[in-house]
Amino acid sequence: MSKTEGMNGTGRRPGFLTRRGLLGVTAAVGAGTAATAMSRGTTASAGPAAGRAGRPAPPGGLRLRWFGNNSWEIRVGTGASAPTVLIDPWLTRFWTGTYSEAGAAPDTPIKVDTGVIDGYRLRADQILVTHGHYDHMTDVPHLARTTGATVFGTETHVNLMRAMGAPDEQLSVVSGGEQLQYEGYSVQVLRSLHSMGGDHPRVAFAGTRPGQRIPEAPTTIADLVEGGSLSYRISVGGFDIVNLGSSNFSEHDFEGVRADLLMIQPGGANVPDYVARLLDLLGHPAYVVPTHWDDFDEPLDRPAVDWGGLDALRAAVREASPESRFVKLDHLETLSL
Ligand SMILES: [Zn+2]
Repeated sequence: MSKTEGMNGTGRRPGFLTRRGLLGVTAAVGAGTAATAMSRGTTASAGPAAGRAGRPAPPGGLRLRWFGNNSWEIRVGTGASAPTVLIDPWLTRFWTGTYSEAGAAPDTPIKVDTGVIDGYRLRADQILVTHGHYDHMTDVPHLARTTGATVFGTETHVNLMRAMGAPDEQLSVVSGGEQLQYEGYSVQVLRSLHSMGGDHPRVAFAGTRPGQRIPEAPTTIADLVEGGSLSYRISVGGFDIVNLGSSNFSEHDFEGVRADLLMIQPGGANVPDYVARLLDLLGHPAYVVPTHWDDFDEPLDRPAVDWGGLDALRAAVREASPESRFVKLDHLETLSL
């Protein structure tokens, strides 16, 4: 598909590739108050737990670092060798145009800059993939090689990562519901849903690559199909962190799941009561940490640029769950709990 194909009469690319379409969002502006401010690259504390009665306080020694988009490093413990979980790590950030007026062209080449990735010197014991899109999975095969981590994803995600050269023996196919106990923490895989955008709401780059055959190596962003979506719960001493890699969900998939800290992204404009229903379902988490709110065509080593959904998310959280603490991190900031 050429750069100009798919333009409609208004000169705009059809919805499913634009910011609104790809992410299923509308950038409504809310009343928004000043966010919790933290300087980049520093460690900050969110202060005492604001948890609901009966819910555990943060265990201490828990560190969450944000690498933009839905890229998270969660360290359990304070030592240099503390167990580390990465979610959707994506550091290369090649130009996509996703947040431009025209949107991203499907034939945009994917790029993996190993120099940039290695520069962050990430360690990992587990890497959790929420879905197969370019802004979530492109760097994972390289990080699997350099960290030796176990990588969890659906059959499609795993097949695509195999095609991108990830070490086969580290890849683990999951489908949602699995629970894994590690020393000091556990990981639960949850089935989830991707947002649907555009005039005819649908998942961008939908599709699967199941089976035993390794697909051709992805070269464009369209080759990295969604492949099913997963959410994850990481439990540390009873303190539950839940991450959603996209702005959609089904109550059924989160049955019995509670969150003390929820990583939620803006969007979900065409999902009825997206924020309120999710916060209610998860028991009004003490901490709500926005994720996937930055324009990822902007540099990671500079302050995050809001693509336009943050204020509306903050306002929706305040309205639905006034007791929850909305903790916004900037690029490369660490939240210590
Ligand atoms: Zn996506």
